[in-house]
Amino acid sequence: MALPLYLRPRLEPPLSTLLDEGALLHSLVDALGSPLNLLLPERIAQNARRFRDVYRRHHLAGQVHFAHKANGSHCLVRALAATDPSVAGVDVASLGELRHALESGIGPDRILATGPKDPEFLWLAARTGTRVHLDSPAELEQLAALVRRYALPRAEVLLRLAEFAPTAGSGGVRLLSRRSRFGTPVRALEAALDLVERHRDAVELTGVGYHLDTTGIEEKALALENCVQALDLCRSRGLDPRSVDIGGGFGVGYARDAGEWERWTTALGQAVLGNRPALTWRGHGYGLRNEGGTLRGSPALYPAHRASAGPAYLDDLLRHPGPATGRPLGSLLLEHLYDLDCEPGRALVDQCGVSLARVVEVRRDLGDVLVRLAANAGDVALEEHGVLVDPVLVPRDGSPEGGPRGGDPQEGEPQGGEPRGGAGVFLMGNLCLEADLITRRKVFLPRLPRPGDLLAFANTAGYAMDFHAHRAQRQPLARTVAVTREGTSWRWCPDERYWPISPSGGTAS
Ligand SMILES: *Cc1c(COP(=O)(O)O)cnc(C)c1O
Repeated sequence: MALPLYLRPRLEPPLSTLLDEGALLHSLVDALGSPLNLLLPERIAQNARRFRDVYRRHHLAGQVHFAHKANGSHCLVRALAATDPSVAGVDVASLGELRHALESGIGPDRILATGPKDPEFLWLAARTGTRVHLDSPAELEQLAALVRRYALPRAEVLLRLAEFAPTAGSGGVRLLSRRSRFGTPVRALEAALDLVERHRDAVELTGVGYHLDTTGIEEKALALENCVQALDLCRSRGLDPRSVDIGGGFGVGYARDAGEWERWTTALGQAVLGNRPALTWRGHGYGLRNEGGTLRGSPALYPAHRASAGPAYLDDLLRHPGPATGRPLGSLLLEHLYDLDCEPGRALVDQCGVSLARVVEVRRDLGDVLVRLAANAGDVALEEHGVLVDPVLVPRDGSPEGGPRGGDPQEGEPQGGEPRGGAGVFLMGNLCLEADLITRRKVFLPRLPRPGDLLAFANTAGYAMDFHAHRAQRQPLARTVAVTREGTSWRWCPDERYWPISPSGGTAS
């Protein structure tokens, strides 16, 4: 029998400590149903402070905006509202998100409106004095028209740029940034600035920016340096923008162990080639395929183990030399007296949440073990983003068999941190749909689960919790609960009842 191929989750406190509370987790699911989302609002503020630490290290001013779309809950935005305004604001991408940020106590000076916008969204942004990150020249015209027609205050705007190209001095760099549906190509910058000047009475340009949906640091370095050059051009034309907004995409490390990730991805290739038994449902290759004995394609997987993610990735980017100037990008911003804005989504909700699902049935089917859960692939959408990681088993009877998992090595783990034993299972969802698997990966658990046990999917707060959830078959949508630490015990309440004050009226710590 082949050794189990674990992909244990990276767990940090307070999430790791919460997952030790088997009785609490079971009583919550007993009362509120499966699936159930738990959020740790205090952690998002901590994450934002870690981003601020990087700003401080590089002596940079500017704002960190939480990209709201990563999680739709109340408690995370309200927890941010309670931080010092200099710590973080919110990036909103719809009328609903803007309303939500405002009603949560985030002032307009801490909000940035991004993405393509409806007229109502533009109007409310301009009406409240929320900065607008313009998606296109057409949006600029539309905003200027609204400002004039309804006598709104002059709107502060940023220009979203795209399709960056190497400039003079970048020598060997052949890199071109990818095409995007969003933003104005840099080659059309001059025309966009003509427009900004024509609408000067209605809009004030305060910066330029980008959001690239990639983890590639070279591509981002190119974009950032292009933006500095764009600001220089603005200044030469007599405009006075001050900031570069580098968007989101700082990433999260989901897997605890680089070796496990390495072993699993290598084994996937071997399985696709037929050199070892399948690791996935019906031999799914995650983008890899066997062409006459040769491995082709590329794995469509999120790099679950990241050497550098979140604030550390920002630090790397700011130390990275600009492809044309050779200057570290942080120094380049500083030397030109520009501020840095950013819009992390996934990275700000790292370790902020967990999705719980109850085991309903355990069945053998030919050689496989199928575990059916009271949840579906929309409720735990890690696979949707190509994130592969094991759930944590939370036994019904409270037996200490929940390990192995992230955090500190568990007792009984052999030398080298490699867990032994393990049961390989497939996780089936609650829809009558062949494709409804929580993950197509064969997941190894420390023992066979039993009906009534819980599986805890860690780190789902970014996109994997509510973004893809739906009401197909009238299966229940997950409720969301905010959990806070109070001394040595835990306090919880429904998400909508969470406010960042203690129930007795004092400020929550
Ligand atoms: C989605 C999005 C983000 C956040 O991206 P993450 O990868 O979650 O950090 C930031 N800015 C814009 C414009 C986005 O669309």
